[in-house]
Amino acid sequence: MKFDKLETALHEKGAQAILEHQLLDWVESFGKIGQTEQGGVSRLAFGPDDLLARKMIIERMHRELGLELRIDAWGNIIGRRPGNYSRSGILMTGSHLDTVRNGGKFDGAAGIFCALEAVRILNRLDIQTRHPLEVMVFAAEEANQSGISTIGSRGKTGRLQSESLADYKDDHGVPLLEAVTAAGGNPSEMKHDQFHPGEIKVFIEIHNEQMNRLENNGFDLGIVTGVTGIRRRQFTVEGSAGHGGTILMDQRKDALVAAAELVTAVYNIASESGGEAVATVGHISVEPNSVNVVPGKTVLEMEIRSYNSRELDRIDETVWKTANSIEKKYGTPIKRGSLTYDNTPREFAPLVRKALTRSSDICGYRSTDLVSMAGHDAYHMSYVTNAGMIFVPSRNGLSHCPEEYTDPLYLARATEVLLTTLLHIDEED
Ligand SMILES: [Zn+2]
Repeated sequence: MKFDKLETALHEKGAQAILEHQLLDWVESFGKIGQTEQGGVSRLAFGPDDLLARKMIIERMHRELGLELRIDAWGNIIGRRPGNYSRSGILMTGSHLDTVRNGGKFDGAAGIFCALEAVRILNRLDIQTRHPLEVMVFAAEEANQSGISTIGSRGKTGRLQSESLADYKDDHGVPLLEAVTAAGGNPSEMKHDQFHPGEIKVFIEIHNEQMNRLENNGFDLGIVTGVTGIRRRQFTVEGSAGHGGTILMDQRKDALVAAAELVTAVYNIASESGGEAVATVGHISVEPNSVNVVPGKTVLEMEIRSYNSRELDRIDETVWKTANSIEKKYGTPIKRGSLTYDNTPREFAPLVRKALTRSSDICGYRSTDLVSMAGHDAYHMSYVTNAGMIFVPSRNGLSHCPEEYTDPLYLARATEVLLTTLLHIDEED
């Protein structure tokens, strides 16, 4: 019955176009909040533009869609559409509205707009779900000005302790918890405000792919099988600082030269892995960092990503072995720091993946399974419920930049698959 209505509405002449048009309207109107000169968007978590976007979305979720709005202790915005049986688990969907500096209009925001259009369709067709449906606007998904990411989803799933946020401040010295309060959160309640077991029946997030696998192979959407593991570690190379003119080459212990060889080794070891593993040294500091002084010390930060835990271990260990030989070669002791970040690879719920694939087939779209190489709110949600993700194609694989773009056609298709899946799951049990 529900599906007849949905199908007729979506496939009736022009319905798709209306959906695309409305999705485009969301993208354009929110793209103006925090717009940069380069055509990108800067809505840094809890900054003035993020606060403005949050205010706008709350207003529109209530006014246009009739959702019941609340903000939880962590600053997440939740819009609820009640179900027939209020005691059953929540069907949840959503993403984040904050962006990186000079990022794009789609990362995160697209998932919220699709979720809201799904609600609009349900309203228009007067479809009442058995389970309540909630649209989640997660707070501070991107690394915020204090440098911590996924605050809303980690906090709400019990994976972030509120005490650990106490010391963080942004560039202007504003304490993070004060910023959360200004956004409507309540730090004193954070500890108690977490999802209960069984509270959520399913969580599905639509997100741009941020790679070009879908685009290059002509897929409408991707069913995300899981999220890559991420490991970060620091290496410190100790050399001997000294006059860049008077210390002859055979007497040097140059910490930067040794570090450079280590950086190259990280690159080569990941390149030779043959799989989808990647590794990056994206940050390095040099002391004293002076033009006529032999570098005395360098600290570099390595990040490895792979969906395979053993591959993470292997690359990590091979880099360490190589570091030992570099140490001998240059006479520069290399210290390996403990892990500063360690997200294990995580598979999404098979029942959600299956339901998404089936819905995509029913809707007549071309989908493929793929792994996410970036972290997402859905990753943390997978620790408390059956979670899954739909990826939509990113033009040229770009994201976190003004050029980030996804054709609204794909957003409309993903919305249709999301809605079909939620309605199927709603009818179960
Ligand atoms: Zn995102």
